[in-house]
Amino acid sequence: MFPIAMNLQGVNAEVNAAITGRSARFTAPVQLVAVSKTKPEAQIRAAFAAGQRHFGENYVQEAVDKIRAIGDLRGAEGIVWHLIGPLQSNKAALAAKNFDWVQTVDREKIALALARARAEAGLPALNVLVQINVSGEQSKSGVNVNDVTQIDALTSTVTAQSSLRLRGVMSIIENSSEEAVLRAQFARVRDVFERLRARVSSIDTLSMGMSNDFAIAISEGATMIRVGSRIFGARQVPASEALG
Ligand SMILES: *Cc1c(COP(=O)(O)O)cnc(C)c1O
Repeated sequence: MFPIAMNLQGVNAEVNAAITGRSARFTAPVQLVAVSKTKPEAQIRAAFAAGQRHFGENYVQEAVDKIRAIGDLRGAEGIVWHLIGPLQSNKAALAAKNFDWVQTVDREKIALALARARAEAGLPALNVLVQINVSGEQSKSGVNVNDVTQIDALTSTVTAQSSLRLRGVMSIIENSSEEAVLRAQFARVRDVFERLRARVSSIDTLSMGMSNDFAIAISEGATMIRVGSRIFGARQVPASEALG
């Protein structure tokens, strides 16, 4: 078996163990997004051949080049692309036309630019997650978890756009070696998710957890995890920089 297929098998086994072990109050399936930023087309094809369908990319231009090169894997039961990196408004149109999901919407201006471009392209509604900043670190994007007014304003803006479909929330938590710290942050994002889900019927996705902490994220209710290095190996760029 190829290393990527073996790595995927290992991650999927851990995902299934975490699902089995989680509290009975969580019943949703968990979607694995394979984060392929900085990795070449051949490795994405290898993961696809091993059964992986959802892929995440951070940099719009790098991603669009790959998305086009791998266009043959699109279609029914085909590849699904998630933008998980910070999005500037001058790249919003390009993102709206090429991705299936944008997980990093954190202001109205970006939501409206995505909506306009998606409508113009005549594509089905773009799946959107609102990014929540739970760590309070200035360097991280996202709406501050305490800013309920802004979270509600942004979700209302997204749900008012027929070319966008609000699916839930995403967060990149503060890296910590203490499990209690990780759990507390995941739980705060989950609280936002559950509050919004009670009001917006299209909401079903809580995207949190990466290579080092996805099992904990699942036990705190994640329905989508974003895993890169555990599948594709270490990246040249340090994760802190790659997060933008
Ligand atoms: C790079 C990245 C990941 C994956 O990180 P790993 O530690 O390699 O699993 C997940 N989410 C976001 C937003 C990222 O930028």
